[in-house]
Amino acid sequence: MTQNSPHILILSGPSGVGKTTVWEALHTKHADYLEKIVTTTTRTKREGEEHGKHYYFLPREDFQSGIDSGDMIEYALVHGNYYGSTFQELERIVKLGKHPLYIVDPQGMVHLKPLLEHRGYTVQTFFLLPPSIDELRLRLSGRGTEQSDHMELRLANALMEMEEQDFYDHKIINTTLEETLETLATIIFSK
Ligand code: ADP
Repeated sequence: MTQNSPHILILSGPSGVGKTTVWEALHTKHADYLEKIVTTTTRTKREGEEHGKHYYFLPREDFQSGIDSGDMIEYALVHGNYYGSTFQELERIVKLGKHPLYIVDPQGMVHLKPLLEHRGYTVQTFFLLPPSIDELRLRLSGRGTEQSDHMELRLANALMEMEEQDFYDHKIINTTLEETLETLATIIFSK
């Protein structure tokens, strides 16, 4: 497999489709070539979390300085805490000769892609699809993070999000993990 010049990968798709699982498997296989963008946040570190691995934890003043100096690619205020990603983080990964990868929900992709392209980065977007809605329901319930009364809402939301699939460079049906990894790697490393 050959390495090519770093471009930014955005992996999206409805909640429960398998984005995290696919990323972890992909990273295990191709750690020399791919690295996930670590988000910067002002929220307090929780037990077991590591600075630089799970998040970059910054005091609010430093986050604000990042906004003022233009280092924040995008940011949002969620429940009173800031979350965002920085050009510094992107460049850190690019300098290692790796492709930076974002995992975002479909709303995030719409926002992020033009911002990155405007700054001259090449971006490749991937939308993961479930083999069926029944399978998505199974994956959401298998994940064990959904209360049953939230399930229908999640699924309705997923259907809406799936209407955005044609805005992506590549659509991949996440049937088996092996097939998904193979397809992703073929596209990413042949660009
Ligand atoms: P997301 O990050 O998109 O919300 P997760 O990676 O948390 O989704 O996956 C949701 C559930 O689906 C998990 O229980 C995971 O093990 C399962 N899953 C992911 N990919 C597959 C696959 N290809 N085949 C079967 N189950 C999968």
